[in-house]
Amino acid sequence: MRKGDMLVNILNNRRGSSSIVFVCTAVIIILLSAVVTDIGYIAFQRYKMDKTLDRIAEQGAKALLVSKNECIKVIQESTIKSVDNMTKLDINVSDNKREMSINLERKIDYIFLKYIGFTDKKIDSRVTAKLSNVTSYKGIRPFAVLKGEFVYGKQYYLALNNEQVHKSNEEAILSVIPINIGSGNFDTGILYGYNKTVRTGDSLNKVSQIDFSTANKSAKKLIEKCKGSPRCTYDNYESDCSRIIILPVVDNLELNREKPMKVLGFTAFFIEDIDFENKDAVMIKGSFIKYTVKSSTSDGIPDYGLLGVKLIH
Ligand SMILES: [Zn+2]
Repeated sequence: MRKGDMLVNILNNRRGSSSIVFVCTAVIIILLSAVVTDIGYIAFQRYKMDKTLDRIAEQGAKALLVSKNECIKVIQESTIKSVDNMTKLDINVSDNKREMSINLERKIDYIFLKYIGFTDKKIDSRVTAKLSNVTSYKGIRPFAVLKGEFVYGKQYYLALNNEQVHKSNEEAILSVIPINIGSGNFDTGILYGYNKTVRTGDSLNKVSQIDFSTANKSAKKLIEKCKGSPRCTYDNYESDCSRIIILPVVDNLELNREKPMKVLGFTAFFIEDIDFENKDAVMIKGSFIKYTVKSSTSDGIPDYGLLGVKLIH
C-alpha cells in the first residue's frame, strides 16, 4: 500500500465515525428537546389547572353561603365545563359550612414522549377555601347599621331621618345613621362608596346636614346602574351588582351624647327600590344578604353576613 492510499483510508474512517457521532448527537438533541418540551407542557398544564381550580373554589365558596348542596353543585358543574379528561373530583365541606376543599385529578397526553412509549400522565391539584368574617373594607356606603337581629332575606326599609317616616309596617323600618366621610362627600359616598378603608374597631361619626333630595338621587342611580338581565333580585344577582352595598355594623346609635360609633363588622344589603314618598328622609327598600368580597378577614369577630374567601394551597 502506498503512503498516499493509507492516508485516504484513515480520512475515510474518520469521516465515517464523525457521521455516527453526528447522528447520535442529533438523536440525543431531539430526545432531549422532546423531554424538555413535554416537561414544560406538563408544568404549564399544571399551572393552568391550579388557576382554574382557584376560580372554581371561589365560586364554590360563594355558593357555600347558600347551602352545602349548592356549593357541591356549582363546583361539579364548573369543573366539568372547564377541565378536560378529569379522572377524580373530591369535594369536602366542613359541617359549619366555613371551609371547603377540592381535590382534582386529570389525565394529560404527552406531546412527543407518547411516540416513544410514554403513555399519559395524571396531574392533580388541591385547594382549601376558607370563609371568614371581613375585618376591613374600602368602599362602605355612608350608613351605619346597629348590631342586632336583622334577618337575611327579609324586606326592610333602611331609613335616614326616621322621625319623618310614616309607614304602616313599622317593624320593617330600620334606622340607619348617616356617617361623616368628609364634607360634601355624602352623595358621592352613596354612589361610589367611601374611598378610605374602614376597619373593625374604628370610630365613625354622624353627619349632621344632609340634602335628602340628592341623597335619594344617588341611591336611585345605584338601581339604574344595575344591568342584570333578568333583573337582579336579592337571591339571584350578578356578582358585583351595583344594587349591593356594603355597610358598617356599629355598637350604638347614641347620637345625642356625641359618642362615636364603633365598627363591629360589615354587612351587605341588596337595594330593591327607593321610596320617594318622604321628602325629608331617605328610604331604601331591600334585604340583607350573605355576600363575599375580597378583603382581609378573621374568625375572631361577629358574623354580619359579609365574608371573605381565603384560598390555602
Ligand atoms: Zn344587578
